[in-house]
Amino acid sequence: MDDYQRVAEIIKEKQYLVAFTGAGISVDSGIPAFRGGQGLWEKYDPMEYAHIRAFTNNPEKVWIMLREMSKVIFESGPSPAHLALATLEQKGYLKSVITQNVDGLHHVAGNSDVIEYHGNHRWLTCLNCSRRVLLTPQMIELLPYPRCEKCNRALKPDVVFFGEGIPMIAMLRANEEANRCGVMFIIGTSGVVYPAAEIPYVAKSKGATIVEINVESTPFTSSITDHFFTGTASDVLPKILEHL
Ligand code: ZN
Repeated sequence: MDDYQRVAEIIKEKQYLVAFTGAGISVDSGIPAFRGGQGLWEKYDPMEYAHIRAFTNNPEKVWIMLREMSKVIFESGPSPAHLALATLEQKGYLKSVITQNVDGLHHVAGNSDVIEYHGNHRWLTCLNCSRRVLLTPQMIELLPYPRCEKCNRALKPDVVFFGEGIPMIAMLRANEEANRCGVMFIIGTSGVVYPAAEIPYVAKSKGATIVEINVESTPFTSSITDHFFTGTASDVLPKILEHL
């Protein structure tokens, strides 16, 4: 029995599978990780462009970065890994996806229960009246920025900026799923961004089997991971699926 088959057997036995995903799963979708060489943070200083104070002080400047990011997201599509997770849900194994990504690609792929820990860039929100509006390609082009129809203020992508808290509902649901799952996939995340990185530790403490898929080892690997696959999730997940 190879590792793919072994992990598939564990999933069948334990039933309740939850995936915890990060930037790595979207690299094959054409979205570079923020922190990598091609990442937005190489070009834009996050404190100058991604801090909530930067947005409230100068939304016009911050929208220069947001416009670029919005285009990247609109041009992207689900990777084989996103699609494999959607298939795992259809087959009844995968119950939810907890993601740190803001690209909305798990929804696009077809997963129905996606817990967006850092929000979703495809939605805009008004900091004044809390109105939420779906971002369209036309709105990206509005200068100096898209505005709230009701209060005329700059709309902000419904993502967690530096200096903002994690949405309470996402924290509660992520914790609930981590407590409940029998198997947790860690996919494409380095485990250095807190509090998100605590989630797999919660799952492990409640007895879940931890299956990690990453291109290199992480702080999870030596501490809580039971089965480690080196590589991208687009390579690994379809091979696990073959046995399910
Ligand atoms: Zn408003």
